[in-house]
Amino acid sequence: MTDFPEFQNERTSKARKDHKCCECDGIIFKGFAHKAVTGKWNGAVQTFRMHIACSQIAENARDFFTTEVGLFEDEIFGFGELVEAAREDADCGDYIPPYWPSGVWISRGALRQHAAKASALPSSEERSDTASPLVRAGA
Ligand SMILES: [Zn+2]
Repeated sequence: MTDFPEFQNERTSKARKDHKCCECDGIIFKGFAHKAVTGKWNGAVQTFRMHIACSQIAENARDFFTTEVGLFEDEIFGFGELVEAAREDADCGDYIPPYWPSGVWISRGALRQHAAKASALPSSEERSDTASPLVRAGA
């Protein structure tokens, strides 16, 4: 599923504008730290952005699939495929995957809520420094 990239660069950066998380489809708000992975797959440079919480689950899942399930790196799910991979794993294994946060349903919607809760929300003072409530509401 995952083609080996010609190059891949992972970084944690602050969002300069709102982005969409590739794993849960939730919004990564401007100013929030998030994980950005840029790489070149099949000749095309792409950047995948995700919540820190989502990227940690994905990282744990990739570890689990390589060490516990014994998959090779190129058999592991790609970016944006975490929920589908976890659901398939849960169905096949008839268990709750150990890398999945407990009490969270395996769906993009549930992951989105989990990520929103896990993200440290900036205080209202910090927010008012960068954008007025009117601007933010309209964004
Ligand atoms: Zn997310």
